[in-house]
Amino acid sequence: MSESAPSAPSTQGSTDFIGDIIRADNQQGTYAGRVQTRFPPEPNGWLHIGHAKAITVDFDSAQNNGGICNLRFDDTNPETEDTEFVDSIIADLKWLGFTPANVFYASDYFDKLYEWAEYLIGEHLAYVDEQDGETISAQRGGYGNPGIESPFRDRPADQSLDRFRRMRAGEFADGTMVLRAKIDMNHENMQLRDPVLYRIRRGHHHRTQDAWVIYPTYDWAHGQSDALEGVTHSLCTLEFVSHRPLYDWCLSHLPLPYDKPKQIEFARLELTNTVTSKRRLAKLVADGTVEGWDDPRMPTLAGLRKRGYPARSIVAFCRDMGVSKTNARHAIEELESYVRRDLNKVAQRRMAVLRPIKLTITNWPEGQIEYFDVMNNPENPDDGTRKVAFTGELFIEQDDFAEVPPPKFYRLSLGREVRLRGAYFVTATDLVKDDQGNVTEVLATYDPASKGGNSPDGRKVKSTIHWVSRPHAVAATVALYDRLFSAANPGETTGEPLDDLNPSSRELLENCQVEQALTETGPGEVVQFERLGYFAADPDRPMHFHRTVGLRDEWAAIQKRKG
Ligand code: ATP
Ligand code: MG
Repeated sequence: MSESAPSAPSTQGSTDFIGDIIRADNQQGTYAGRVQTRFPPEPNGWLHIGHAKAITVDFDSAQNNGGICNLRFDDTNPETEDTEFVDSIIADLKWLGFTPANVFYASDYFDKLYEWAEYLIGEHLAYVDEQDGETISAQRGGYGNPGIESPFRDRPADQSLDRFRRMRAGEFADGTMVLRAKIDMNHENMQLRDPVLYRIRRGHHHRTQDAWVIYPTYDWAHGQSDALEGVTHSLCTLEFVSHRPLYDWCLSHLPLPYDKPKQIEFARLELTNTVTSKRRLAKLVADGTVEGWDDPRMPTLAGLRKRGYPARSIVAFCRDMGVSKTNARHAIEELESYVRRDLNKVAQRRMAVLRPIKLTITNWPEGQIEYFDVMNNPENPDDGTRKVAFTGELFIEQDDFAEVPPPKFYRLSLGREVRLRGAYFVTATDLVKDDQGNVTEVLATYDPASKGGNSPDGRKVKSTIHWVSRPHAVAATVALYDRLFSAANPGETTGEPLDDLNPSSRELLENCQVEQALTETGPGEVVQFERLGYFAADPDRPMHFHRTVGLRDEWAAIQKRKG
Protein backbone atom coordinates (compact mmCIF):
# COMPACT_ATOMS: atom_id res chain seq x y z
CA MET A 1 0.00 0.00 0.00
CA SER A 2 1.35 3.43 -0.87
CA GLU A 3 2.22 6.16 1.66
CA SER A 4 -0.71 8.27 0.61
CA ALA A 5 -3.26 5.49 1.01
CA PRO A 6 -6.33 6.69 2.87
CA SER A 7 -6.28 5.87 6.55
CA ALA A 8 -9.91 4.74 6.52
CA PRO A 9 -10.14 1.68 8.77
CA SER A 10 -10.42 -1.09 6.22
CA THR A 11 -9.76 -4.55 7.54
CA GLN A 12 -9.67 -5.97 4.03
CA GLY A 13 -6.33 -4.37 3.26
CA SER A 14 -7.16 -3.90 -0.42
CA THR A 15 -8.24 -0.68 -1.95
CA ASP A 16 -10.71 -0.95 -4.78
CA PHE A 17 -12.71 1.61 -6.62
CA ILE A 18 -16.12 0.33 -5.52
CA GLY A 19 -15.07 0.23 -1.89
CA ASP A 20 -13.61 3.72 -2.28
CA ILE A 21 -16.92 5.09 -3.55
CA ILE A 22 -18.87 3.41 -0.77
CA ARG A 23 -16.48 4.59 1.93
CA ALA A 24 -16.56 8.13 0.57
CA ASP A 25 -20.37 8.03 0.62
CA ASN A 26 -20.29 6.79 4.18
CA GLN A 27 -17.89 9.52 5.25
CA GLN A 28 -20.01 12.20 3.63
CA GLY A 29 -23.20 10.80 5.10
CA THR A 30 -24.76 10.12 1.69
CA TYR A 31 -27.56 7.59 2.15
CA ALA A 32 -27.36 8.44 5.87
CA GLY A 33 -24.54 5.95 6.21
CA ARG A 34 -26.63 3.09 4.85
CA VAL A 35 -25.01 0.62 2.46
CA GLN A 36 -27.25 -1.76 0.56
CA THR A 37 -26.40 -3.81 -2.50
CA ARG A 38 -28.16 -6.63 -4.32
CA PHE A 39 -27.28 -9.59 -6.47
CA PRO A 40 -29.87 -9.52 -9.27
CA PRO A 41 -29.87 -12.71 -11.35
CA GLU A 42 -32.44 -13.34 -14.01
CA PRO A 43 -33.82 -16.83 -13.28
CA ASN A 44 -33.25 -18.07 -16.83
CA GLY A 45 -30.25 -20.30 -16.18
CA TRP A 46 -28.02 -21.65 -13.44
CA LEU A 47 -25.33 -19.55 -11.81
CA HIS A 48 -21.83 -19.74 -13.28
CA ILE A 49 -18.32 -18.70 -12.29
CA GLY A 50 -18.97 -15.16 -13.55
CA HIS A 51 -21.90 -14.89 -11.18
CA ALA A 52 -19.62 -16.02 -8.35
CA LYS A 53 -17.56 -12.95 -9.12
CA ALA A 54 -20.62 -10.67 -9.06
CA ILE A 55 -21.84 -12.30 -5.83
CA THR A 56 -18.47 -11.81 -4.17
CA VAL A 57 -18.34 -8.16 -5.23
CA ASP A 58 -21.95 -7.46 -4.24
CA PHE A 59 -21.78 -9.13 -0.84
CA ASP A 60 -18.25 -8.05 0.10
CA SER A 61 -18.90 -4.43 -0.88
CA ALA A 62 -21.84 -4.31 1.51
CA GLN A 63 -20.50 -6.46 4.31
CA ASN A 64 -17.07 -4.83 4.43
CA ASN A 65 -18.76 -1.47 4.86
CA GLY A 66 -21.41 -2.24 7.45
CA GLY A 67 -24.18 -2.85 4.96
CA ILE A 68 -26.44 -5.60 3.69
CA CYS A 69 -26.84 -7.41 0.39
CA ASN A 70 -30.13 -8.85 -0.87
CA LEU A 71 -30.84 -11.45 -3.49
CA ARG A 72 -33.26 -10.08 -6.04
CA PHE A 73 -34.61 -12.13 -8.89
CA ASP A 74 -34.89 -10.00 -11.97
CA ASP A 75 -37.88 -12.00 -13.16
CA THR A 76 -39.49 -9.78 -15.74
CA ASN A 77 -39.39 -12.07 -18.75
CA PRO A 78 -41.98 -14.85 -18.52
CA GLU A 79 -40.74 -16.72 -21.59
CA THR A 80 -37.34 -17.83 -20.36
CA GLU A 81 -37.74 -17.94 -16.61
CA ASP A 82 -38.60 -20.81 -14.39
CA THR A 83 -38.74 -21.91 -10.75
CA GLU A 84 -36.10 -24.57 -11.51
CA PHE A 85 -33.67 -21.68 -11.93
CA VAL A 86 -34.93 -19.82 -8.86
CA ASP A 87 -34.36 -22.90 -6.72
CA SER A 88 -30.92 -23.63 -8.13
CA ILE A 89 -29.81 -20.01 -7.63
CA ILE A 90 -30.88 -20.06 -3.98
CA ALA A 91 -29.06 -23.37 -3.43
CA ASP A 92 -25.88 -22.25 -5.19
CA LEU A 93 -25.69 -18.96 -3.32
CA LYS A 94 -25.99 -20.84 -0.06
CA TRP A 95 -23.32 -23.31 -1.12
CA LEU A 96 -20.98 -20.46 -1.99
CA GLY A 97 -21.39 -19.29 1.60
CA PHE A 98 -23.36 -16.08 1.18
CA THR A 99 -26.58 -15.37 3.02
CA PRO A 100 -28.75 -12.63 1.57
CA ALA A 101 -30.44 -10.33 4.06
CA ASN A 102 -33.65 -10.72 2.05
CA VAL A 103 -34.87 -12.57 -1.02
CA PHE A 104 -36.84 -10.26 -3.30
CA TYR A 105 -38.49 -10.62 -6.69
CA ALA A 106 -38.87 -7.83 -9.24
CA SER A 107 -42.23 -9.41 -10.07
CA ASP A 108 -43.42 -8.37 -6.61
CA TYR A 109 -43.10 -4.78 -7.83
CA PHE A 110 -45.21 -5.17 -10.97
CA ASP A 111 -48.05 -3.11 -9.46
CA LYS A 112 -45.72 -0.33 -8.38
CA LEU A 113 -43.83 -0.33 -11.69
CA TYR A 114 -47.14 -0.06 -13.49
CA GLU A 115 -48.25 2.79 -11.23
CA TRP A 116 -44.98 4.63 -11.85
CA ALA A 117 -45.40 4.15 -15.59
CA GLU A 118 -48.80 5.84 -15.41
CA TYR A 119 -47.16 8.60 -13.40
CA LEU A 120 -44.57 9.15 -16.16
CA ILE A 121 -47.32 9.31 -18.76
CA GLY A 122 -49.05 11.94 -16.62
CA GLU A 123 -45.80 13.91 -16.54
CA HIS A 124 -45.64 13.78 -20.37
CA LEU A 125 -42.50 11.66 -20.06
CA ALA A 126 -43.86 8.48 -21.64
CA TYR A 127 -46.23 7.60 -24.45
CA VAL A 128 -47.83 4.58 -26.05
CA ASP A 129 -46.39 3.93 -29.49
CA GLU A 130 -48.61 1.92 -31.81
CA GLN A 131 -45.96 1.22 -34.42
CA ASP A 132 -44.55 -2.26 -34.78
CA GLY A 133 -41.21 -3.26 -33.37
CA GLU A 134 -39.41 -3.21 -36.69
CA THR A 135 -40.46 0.35 -37.43
CA ILE A 136 -39.48 1.48 -33.97
CA SER A 137 -36.02 0.00 -34.21
CA ALA A 138 -35.50 1.35 -37.75
CA GLN A 139 -36.41 4.81 -36.49
CA ARG A 140 -33.87 4.62 -33.69
CA GLY A 141 -31.09 5.61 -36.10
CA GLY A 142 -27.48 4.95 -35.22
CA TYR A 143 -24.32 6.61 -34.06
CA GLY A 144 -24.02 9.87 -35.95
CA ASN A 145 -27.48 9.33 -37.46
CA PRO A 146 -30.39 11.10 -35.85
CA GLY A 147 -33.46 9.06 -34.94
CA ILE A 148 -36.94 9.66 -36.26
CA GLU A 149 -39.65 10.70 -33.83
CA SER A 150 -42.68 8.45 -33.66
CA PRO A 151 -45.95 9.99 -34.89
CA PHE A 152 -47.40 8.94 -31.52
CA ARG A 153 -44.76 10.79 -29.53
CA ASP A 154 -46.79 13.92 -28.89
CA ARG A 155 -50.18 12.35 -28.45
CA PRO A 156 -52.09 13.69 -25.45
CA ALA A 157 -51.27 12.07 -22.13
CA ASP A 158 -54.81 10.88 -21.54
CA GLN A 159 -54.77 9.05 -24.88
CA SER A 160 -51.55 7.27 -23.91
CA LEU A 161 -53.04 6.52 -20.52
CA ASP A 162 -56.14 5.04 -22.09
CA ARG A 163 -54.09 2.82 -24.42
CA PHE A 164 -51.74 1.82 -21.63
CA ARG A 165 -54.65 0.76 -19.39
CA ARG A 166 -56.14 -1.22 -22.24
CA MET A 167 -52.74 -2.80 -22.97
CA ARG A 168 -52.79 -4.01 -19.40
CA ALA A 169 -56.40 -5.17 -19.69
CA GLY A 170 -55.39 -7.41 -22.57
CA GLU A 171 -57.27 -5.61 -25.34
CA PHE A 172 -54.36 -5.66 -27.78
CA ALA A 173 -52.34 -8.41 -29.37
CA ASP A 174 -48.70 -9.09 -28.48
CA GLY A 175 -46.29 -6.72 -30.19
CA THR A 176 -48.93 -4.26 -31.38
CA MET A 177 -47.91 -1.41 -29.10
CA VAL A 178 -45.36 -0.47 -26.45
CA LEU A 179 -44.88 2.16 -23.80
CA ARG A 180 -41.83 4.32 -24.48
CA ALA A 181 -40.04 6.92 -22.43
CA LYS A 182 -40.03 10.34 -24.08
CA ILE A 183 -36.42 11.45 -23.87
CA ASP A 184 -34.48 12.46 -26.97
CA MET A 185 -34.49 10.82 -30.42
CA ASN A 186 -31.23 12.57 -31.26
CA HIS A 187 -29.32 11.63 -28.16
CA GLU A 188 -25.83 10.34 -28.84
CA ASN A 189 -26.52 7.51 -26.43
CA MET A 190 -28.94 5.15 -28.21
CA GLN A 191 -30.34 4.01 -24.88
CA LEU A 192 -31.91 7.43 -24.47
CA ARG A 193 -33.70 7.46 -27.83
CA ASP A 194 -37.15 6.90 -26.37
CA PRO A 195 -36.46 3.42 -24.94
CA VAL A 196 -39.24 0.88 -24.56
CA LEU A 197 -40.51 0.51 -20.98
CA TYR A 198 -43.35 -1.99 -21.44
CA ARG A 199 -44.28 -4.57 -24.03
CA ILE A 200 -47.30 -6.80 -24.48
CA ARG A 201 -46.32 -10.40 -24.01
CA ARG A 202 -48.70 -13.21 -23.25
CA GLY A 203 -46.47 -15.62 -21.42
CA HIS A 204 -47.12 -17.60 -18.29
CA HIS A 205 -45.02 -16.11 -15.49
CA HIS A 206 -43.66 -18.52 -12.89
CA ARG A 207 -44.83 -16.30 -10.01
CA THR A 208 -47.54 -13.93 -11.21
CA GLN A 209 -49.06 -16.65 -13.39
CA ASP A 210 -51.40 -15.00 -15.91
CA ALA A 211 -52.08 -11.80 -14.00
CA TRP A 212 -50.13 -9.70 -16.48
CA VAL A 213 -49.97 -9.48 -20.24
CA ILE A 214 -47.59 -6.53 -20.22
CA TYR A 215 -44.07 -6.79 -18.84
CA PRO A 216 -41.52 -4.09 -17.98
CA THR A 217 -38.18 -4.08 -19.80
CA TYR A 218 -34.91 -4.45 -17.95
CA ASP A 219 -34.41 -0.69 -17.97
CA TRP A 220 -37.79 0.01 -16.44
CA ALA A 221 -37.60 -2.76 -13.87
CA HIS A 222 -34.05 -2.66 -12.65
CA GLY A 223 -33.40 0.82 -11.31
CA GLN A 224 -36.94 1.11 -10.02
CA SER A 225 -36.60 -2.16 -8.11
CA ASP A 226 -33.32 -0.90 -6.67
CA ALA A 227 -35.03 2.30 -5.56
CA LEU A 228 -38.03 0.52 -4.02
CA GLU A 229 -35.76 -1.67 -1.93
CA GLY A 230 -33.49 1.12 -0.78
CA VAL A 231 -30.43 -0.08 -2.65
CA THR A 232 -27.63 2.47 -2.31
CA HIS A 233 -24.97 1.08 -4.65
CA SER A 234 -26.21 -0.89 -7.63
CA LEU A 235 -23.24 -2.90 -8.84
CA CYS A 236 -23.28 -4.47 -12.28
CA THR A 237 -21.03 -5.40 -15.17
CA LEU A 238 -19.57 -3.10 -17.81
CA GLU A 239 -22.16 -3.83 -20.51
CA PHE A 240 -24.51 -1.63 -18.48
CA VAL A 241 -22.34 1.48 -18.70
CA SER A 242 -24.42 2.83 -21.58
CA HIS A 243 -27.60 2.12 -19.60
CA ARG A 244 -26.52 4.26 -16.65
CA PRO A 245 -27.85 7.56 -18.05
CA LEU A 246 -31.21 5.86 -18.56
CA TYR A 247 -31.05 4.38 -15.07
CA ASP A 248 -30.50 7.90 -13.74
CA TRP A 249 -33.12 9.46 -16.01
CA CYS A 250 -35.90 7.12 -14.87
CA LEU A 251 -35.10 7.55 -11.20
CA SER A 252 -34.76 11.30 -11.36
CA HIS A 253 -38.34 11.61 -12.63
CA LEU A 254 -40.02 9.50 -9.98
CA PRO A 255 -41.09 10.18 -6.40
CA LEU A 256 -38.66 7.76 -4.75
CA PRO A 257 -39.08 6.40 -1.24
CA TYR A 258 -35.29 6.47 -0.67
CA ASP A 259 -32.31 8.44 -1.95
CA LYS A 260 -31.49 7.67 -5.56
CA PRO A 261 -29.24 4.62 -5.88
CA LYS A 262 -25.98 4.81 -7.77
CA GLN A 263 -25.05 2.38 -10.54
CA ILE A 264 -21.38 1.33 -10.55
CA GLU A 265 -19.98 -1.02 -13.17
CA PHE A 266 -17.09 -3.49 -12.99
CA ALA A 267 -15.50 -5.94 -15.41
CA ARG A 268 -16.99 -9.36 -16.06
CA LEU A 269 -14.98 -12.37 -15.08
CA GLU A 270 -14.24 -14.72 -17.95
CA LEU A 271 -12.08 -17.84 -17.95
CA THR A 272 -10.12 -19.39 -20.77
CA ASN A 273 -11.53 -22.52 -22.45
CA THR A 274 -15.07 -21.87 -21.30
CA VAL A 275 -17.97 -19.45 -21.71
CA THR A 276 -20.24 -17.61 -19.28
CA SER A 277 -23.05 -16.90 -21.68
CA LYS A 278 -26.22 -18.40 -20.23
CA ARG A 279 -27.69 -18.67 -23.70
CA ARG A 280 -24.83 -20.87 -24.86
CA LEU A 281 -24.71 -22.90 -21.68
CA ALA A 282 -28.46 -23.48 -22.05
CA LYS A 283 -27.84 -24.72 -25.58
CA LEU A 284 -25.27 -27.28 -24.41
CA VAL A 285 -27.85 -28.59 -21.96
CA ALA A 286 -30.70 -28.61 -24.49
CA ASP A 287 -28.52 -30.33 -27.13
CA GLY A 288 -27.42 -33.04 -24.74
CA THR A 289 -23.77 -32.05 -25.28
CA VAL A 290 -23.46 -32.18 -21.50
CA GLU A 291 -25.53 -34.13 -18.99
CA GLY A 292 -27.20 -31.06 -17.50
CA TRP A 293 -26.52 -27.67 -15.96
CA ASP A 294 -24.57 -29.46 -13.23
CA ASP A 295 -22.39 -31.51 -15.56
CA PRO A 296 -18.86 -31.37 -14.07
CA ARG A 297 -17.54 -29.84 -17.31
CA MET A 298 -19.85 -26.85 -17.04
CA PRO A 299 -18.58 -23.55 -15.58
CA THR A 300 -21.75 -23.44 -13.50
CA LEU A 301 -21.45 -23.44 -9.74
CA ALA A 302 -23.40 -26.69 -9.65
CA GLY A 303 -21.01 -28.18 -12.22
CA LEU A 304 -17.93 -27.02 -10.35
CA ARG A 305 -19.41 -28.32 -7.10
CA LYS A 306 -20.00 -31.77 -8.61
CA ARG A 307 -16.51 -31.61 -10.06
CA GLY A 308 -15.16 -31.15 -6.53
CA TYR A 309 -14.22 -27.48 -6.49
CA PRO A 310 -14.46 -26.23 -2.89
CA ALA A 311 -16.69 -23.15 -2.63
CA ARG A 312 -14.04 -21.35 -0.59
CA SER A 313 -11.44 -21.69 -3.35
CA ILE A 314 -13.87 -20.18 -5.88
CA VAL A 315 -14.55 -17.25 -3.56
CA ALA A 316 -10.84 -16.80 -2.79
CA PHE A 317 -10.08 -16.75 -6.51
CA CYS A 318 -12.81 -14.17 -7.20
CA ARG A 319 -11.57 -11.98 -4.37
CA ASP A 320 -7.92 -12.21 -5.35
CA MET A 321 -8.61 -11.33 -8.99
CA GLY A 322 -9.86 -7.97 -7.73
CA VAL A 323 -12.35 -5.59 -9.28
CA SER A 324 -11.46 -3.86 -12.49
CA LYS A 325 -12.81 -1.59 -15.19
CA THR A 326 -11.45 -3.63 -18.10
CA ASN A 327 -12.76 -7.03 -19.12
CA ALA A 328 -10.18 -9.77 -18.85
CA ARG A 329 -10.05 -13.49 -19.42
CA HIS A 330 -8.26 -15.28 -16.63
CA ALA A 331 -6.46 -18.56 -17.21
CA ILE A 332 -8.55 -21.48 -16.01
CA GLU A 333 -5.28 -22.99 -14.79
CA GLU A 334 -5.09 -20.21 -12.23
CA LEU A 335 -8.47 -21.11 -10.77
CA GLU A 336 -7.39 -24.74 -10.79
CA SER A 337 -4.31 -23.88 -8.78
CA TYR A 338 -6.56 -22.39 -6.08
CA VAL A 339 -8.57 -25.59 -6.06
CA ARG A 340 -5.48 -27.80 -5.94
CA ARG A 341 -3.87 -25.86 -3.10
CA ASP A 342 -7.07 -26.06 -1.10
CA LEU A 343 -7.61 -29.76 -1.70
CA ASN A 344 -3.99 -30.58 -0.95
CA LYS A 345 -4.64 -29.52 2.64
CA VAL A 346 -7.89 -31.35 3.17
CA ALA A 347 -8.19 -34.30 0.79
CA GLN A 348 -7.63 -37.79 2.11
CA ARG A 349 -5.12 -39.83 0.11
CA ARG A 350 -6.31 -43.09 -1.41
CA MET A 351 -5.06 -45.60 -3.95
CA ALA A 352 -7.02 -46.20 -7.12
CA VAL A 353 -6.03 -47.98 -10.30
CA LEU A 354 -7.87 -46.51 -13.26
CA ARG A 355 -6.74 -48.83 -16.07
CA PRO A 356 -5.86 -52.02 -14.24
CA ILE A 357 -3.47 -54.78 -15.19
CA LYS A 358 -2.68 -57.72 -12.91
CA LEU A 359 0.60 -57.88 -11.06
CA THR A 360 1.25 -61.23 -9.42
CA ILE A 361 4.09 -61.77 -6.98
CA THR A 362 5.35 -65.29 -7.55
CA ASN A 363 7.38 -65.61 -4.34
CA TRP A 364 4.61 -64.30 -2.06
CA PRO A 365 3.58 -66.79 0.62
CA GLU A 366 0.36 -68.44 -0.51
CA GLY A 367 -2.74 -66.83 1.08
CA GLN A 368 -0.79 -64.29 3.15
CA ILE A 369 -2.38 -60.88 3.78
CA GLU A 370 -0.42 -58.00 5.27
CA TYR A 371 -1.86 -54.72 6.47
CA PHE A 372 0.08 -51.52 6.12
CA ASP A 373 -0.70 -48.41 8.14
CA VAL A 374 -0.91 -45.64 5.61
CA MET A 375 -1.25 -41.94 6.43
CA ASN A 376 -4.53 -40.45 5.30
CA ASN A 377 -3.00 -37.08 4.59
CA PRO A 378 0.69 -36.31 5.09
CA GLU A 379 -0.29 -32.59 5.06
CA ASN A 380 -2.44 -33.14 8.11
CA PRO A 381 -1.24 -35.84 10.54
CA ASP A 382 -4.45 -35.38 12.57
CA ASP A 383 -6.26 -37.24 9.82
CA GLY A 384 -4.53 -40.37 11.11
CA THR A 385 -3.81 -43.60 9.29
CA ARG A 386 -5.77 -46.43 7.76
CA LYS A 387 -5.00 -50.08 7.17
CA VAL A 388 -4.45 -51.07 3.57
CA ALA A 389 -4.37 -54.75 2.67
CA PHE A 390 -1.46 -56.10 0.64
CA THR A 391 -1.29 -59.53 -1.01
CA GLY A 392 0.63 -61.25 -3.76
CA GLU A 393 -2.21 -60.49 -6.19
CA LEU A 394 -2.38 -56.87 -7.14
CA PHE A 395 -3.60 -54.42 -9.73
CA ILE A 396 -1.32 -51.73 -11.09
CA GLU A 397 -1.85 -49.16 -13.87
CA GLN A 398 -1.34 -50.46 -17.40
CA ASP A 399 0.87 -47.52 -18.20
CA ASP A 400 3.10 -48.15 -15.19
CA PHE A 401 4.38 -51.22 -17.07
CA ALA A 402 6.09 -51.26 -20.46
CA GLU A 403 7.05 -54.42 -22.28
CA VAL A 404 9.48 -52.36 -24.35
CA PRO A 405 10.33 -49.37 -22.20
CA PRO A 406 10.77 -46.16 -24.20
CA PRO A 407 13.69 -43.86 -23.34
CA LYS A 408 13.30 -42.25 -19.91
CA PHE A 409 10.67 -44.75 -18.84
CA TYR A 410 11.67 -45.65 -15.29
CA ARG A 411 8.61 -47.54 -14.15
CA LEU A 412 8.12 -51.28 -14.30
CA SER A 413 9.53 -53.40 -17.12
CA LEU A 414 11.05 -56.85 -17.31
CA GLY A 415 14.09 -57.07 -15.08
CA ARG A 416 13.43 -53.61 -13.56
CA GLU A 417 12.82 -53.04 -9.85
CA VAL A 418 10.35 -50.43 -8.56
CA ARG A 419 8.74 -49.57 -5.24
CA LEU A 420 5.10 -50.40 -4.61
CA ARG A 421 4.11 -47.37 -2.57
CA GLY A 422 4.40 -48.03 1.14
CA ALA A 423 4.78 -51.79 0.60
CA TYR A 424 7.72 -53.55 -1.05
CA PHE A 425 10.26 -53.45 -3.84
CA VAL A 426 9.27 -55.70 -6.75
CA THR A 427 11.08 -56.79 -9.88
CA ALA A 428 9.17 -57.84 -13.01
CA THR A 429 10.20 -61.27 -14.19
CA ASP A 430 7.71 -62.40 -16.81
CA LEU A 431 4.42 -61.58 -18.46
CA VAL A 432 1.24 -63.24 -19.62
CA LYS A 433 -0.49 -62.28 -22.86
CA ASP A 434 -3.94 -62.90 -24.25
CA ASP A 435 -4.71 -64.27 -27.74
CA GLN A 436 -4.35 -60.83 -29.26
CA GLY A 437 -0.94 -60.38 -27.72
CA ASN A 438 -2.00 -57.85 -25.09
CA VAL A 439 -0.23 -58.07 -21.78
CA THR A 440 -2.81 -59.21 -19.22
CA GLU A 441 -0.61 -59.96 -16.28
CA VAL A 442 2.86 -59.13 -15.06
CA LEU A 443 4.71 -61.60 -12.90
CA ALA A 444 7.18 -60.30 -10.35
CA THR A 445 9.19 -61.18 -7.28
CA TYR A 446 9.36 -59.08 -4.14
CA ASP A 447 12.13 -58.44 -1.66
CA PRO A 448 10.81 -59.24 1.83
CA ALA A 449 13.58 -57.06 3.31
CA SER A 450 12.10 -53.94 1.68
CA LYS A 451 9.00 -53.95 3.86
CA GLY A 452 7.27 -50.58 4.08
CA GLY A 453 8.89 -49.66 0.79
CA ASN A 454 12.23 -48.99 2.45
CA SER A 455 15.46 -49.92 0.78
CA PRO A 456 17.13 -52.77 2.73
CA ASP A 457 20.70 -52.00 1.66
CA GLY A 458 20.78 -48.53 0.23
CA ARG A 459 20.01 -49.68 -3.29
CA LYS A 460 17.79 -47.26 -5.15
CA VAL A 461 14.75 -47.69 -7.32
CA LYS A 462 13.86 -45.03 -9.84
CA SER A 463 10.15 -45.01 -9.31
CA THR A 464 7.26 -45.66 -6.99
CA ILE A 465 3.96 -46.89 -8.32
CA HIS A 466 0.55 -47.35 -6.70
CA TRP A 467 -1.37 -50.58 -6.42
CA VAL A 468 -4.50 -52.23 -5.08
CA SER A 469 -4.80 -55.76 -3.69
CA ARG A 470 -7.00 -57.77 -6.05
CA PRO A 471 -8.96 -59.72 -3.42
CA HIS A 472 -9.69 -56.42 -1.63
CA ALA A 473 -10.27 -54.15 -4.61
CA VAL A 474 -13.63 -52.53 -5.25
CA ALA A 475 -14.86 -51.66 -8.74
CA ALA A 476 -15.43 -48.02 -9.56
CA THR A 477 -16.28 -45.71 -12.44
CA VAL A 478 -14.13 -42.66 -12.96
CA ALA A 479 -14.78 -39.72 -15.27
CA LEU A 480 -11.73 -37.87 -16.56
CA TYR A 481 -12.33 -34.41 -17.92
CA ASP A 482 -10.59 -32.24 -20.45
CA ARG A 483 -11.44 -28.64 -21.38
CA LEU A 484 -15.02 -28.15 -22.54
CA PHE A 485 -13.77 -25.78 -25.26
CA SER A 486 -10.48 -26.43 -26.99
CA ALA A 487 -9.74 -22.77 -27.77
CA ALA A 488 -8.52 -20.56 -24.95
CA ASN A 489 -10.83 -17.85 -26.23
CA PRO A 490 -13.81 -19.79 -27.59
CA GLY A 491 -15.16 -18.31 -30.80
CA GLU A 492 -12.01 -16.34 -31.55
CA THR A 493 -11.82 -17.59 -35.12
CA THR A 494 -15.44 -18.03 -36.19
CA GLY A 495 -17.20 -15.72 -33.75
CA GLU A 496 -19.26 -18.64 -32.46
CA PRO A 497 -17.87 -20.14 -29.26
CA LEU A 498 -19.75 -23.40 -29.76
CA ASP A 499 -17.59 -24.03 -32.86
CA ASP A 500 -14.71 -24.58 -30.48
CA LEU A 501 -16.35 -27.29 -28.39
CA ASN A 502 -13.89 -30.02 -27.51
CA PRO A 503 -15.48 -33.26 -28.82
CA SER A 504 -13.62 -35.39 -26.27
CA SER A 505 -14.01 -33.44 -23.07
CA ARG A 506 -14.92 -36.54 -21.08
CA GLU A 507 -13.47 -40.01 -20.84
CA LEU A 508 -15.44 -42.49 -18.78
CA LEU A 509 -13.44 -45.35 -17.27
CA GLU A 510 -15.78 -48.07 -16.10
CA ASN A 511 -13.38 -50.76 -14.98
CA CYS A 512 -11.37 -49.03 -12.30
CA GLN A 513 -10.21 -50.93 -9.21
CA VAL A 514 -9.83 -48.97 -6.02
CA GLU A 515 -8.97 -49.54 -2.38
CA GLN A 516 -11.71 -50.46 0.04
CA ALA A 517 -11.54 -47.26 2.09
CA LEU A 518 -13.08 -45.45 -0.87
CA THR A 519 -16.41 -47.14 -0.16
CA GLU A 520 -16.60 -44.84 2.87
CA THR A 521 -16.11 -41.64 0.90
CA GLY A 522 -19.10 -39.38 1.51
CA PRO A 523 -21.25 -38.05 -1.33
CA GLY A 524 -19.47 -35.07 -2.88
CA GLU A 525 -16.29 -35.64 -0.85
CA VAL A 526 -13.03 -35.04 -2.66
CA VAL A 527 -10.07 -37.36 -2.19
CA GLN A 528 -6.65 -37.55 -3.75
CA PHE A 529 -5.96 -40.67 -5.79
CA GLU A 530 -2.23 -41.07 -5.27
CA ARG A 531 -0.23 -39.95 -8.30
CA LEU A 532 -3.39 -39.23 -10.31
CA GLY A 533 -5.11 -36.15 -8.99
CA TYR A 534 -8.13 -35.11 -6.97
CA PHE A 535 -11.43 -36.87 -7.46
CA ALA A 536 -14.91 -36.04 -6.20
CA ALA A 537 -17.38 -38.74 -5.24
CA ASP A 538 -20.59 -38.28 -7.17
CA PRO A 539 -23.36 -37.01 -4.87
CA ASP A 540 -25.80 -39.71 -6.01
CA ARG A 541 -24.03 -42.59 -7.72
CA PRO A 542 -21.98 -44.80 -5.38
CA MET A 543 -18.41 -45.58 -6.45
CA HIS A 544 -18.52 -43.01 -9.22
CA PHE A 545 -15.80 -40.35 -9.18
CA HIS A 546 -15.15 -37.17 -11.14
CA ARG A 547 -11.62 -35.93 -11.65
CA THR A 548 -11.47 -32.45 -10.15
CA VAL A 549 -7.93 -31.51 -11.19
CA GLY A 550 -4.66 -33.30 -11.80
CA LEU A 551 -1.73 -32.97 -9.42
CA ARG A 552 0.56 -30.97 -11.66
CA ASP A 553 0.42 -27.22 -11.11
CA GLU A 554 -0.03 -26.08 -14.69
CA TRP A 555 -0.43 -22.47 -13.62
CA ALA A 556 3.04 -22.50 -12.08
CA ALA A 557 4.37 -24.03 -15.30
CA ILE A 558 2.71 -21.31 -17.38
CA GLN A 559 4.17 -18.62 -15.12
CA LYS A 560 7.60 -20.19 -15.41
CA ARG A 561 7.40 -20.31 -19.21
CA LYS A 562 6.50 -16.63 -19.20
CA GLY A 563 9.61 -16.05 -17.11
P1 ATP B 1 -27.19 -13.13 -19.83
O1 ATP B 1 -26.10 -14.14 -20.10
O2 ATP B 1 -28.57 -13.67 -20.04
O3 ATP B 1 -26.94 -11.75 -20.37
P2 ATP B 1 -26.21 -12.37 -17.30
O4 ATP B 1 -24.99 -13.21 -17.43
O5 ATP B 1 -26.12 -10.90 -17.32
O6 ATP B 1 -27.28 -12.87 -18.32
P3 ATP B 1 -27.82 -12.16 -14.96
O7 ATP B 1 -28.64 -13.20 -14.34
O8 ATP B 1 -28.52 -10.97 -15.50
O9 ATP B 1 -26.96 -12.89 -16.03
O10 ATP B 1 -26.65 -11.71 -14.02
C1 ATP B 1 -26.82 -11.35 -12.67
C2 ATP B 1 -25.66 -10.50 -12.25
O11 ATP B 1 -24.44 -11.17 -12.46
C3 ATP B 1 -25.60 -9.22 -13.05
O12 ATP B 1 -25.35 -8.15 -12.17
C4 ATP B 1 -24.45 -9.42 -13.99
O13 ATP B 1 -23.83 -8.21 -14.26
C5 ATP B 1 -23.56 -10.37 -13.20
N1 ATP B 1 -22.74 -11.21 -14.09
C6 ATP B 1 -23.17 -12.01 -15.07
N2 ATP B 1 -22.14 -12.59 -15.72
C7 ATP B 1 -21.01 -12.15 -15.11
C8 ATP B 1 -19.61 -12.38 -15.32
N3 ATP B 1 -19.15 -13.20 -16.28
N4 ATP B 1 -18.74 -11.76 -14.50
C9 ATP B 1 -19.19 -10.95 -13.52
N5 ATP B 1 -20.47 -10.70 -13.28
C10 ATP B 1 -21.40 -11.28 -14.06
MG1 MG C 1 -28.23 -9.93 -17.70
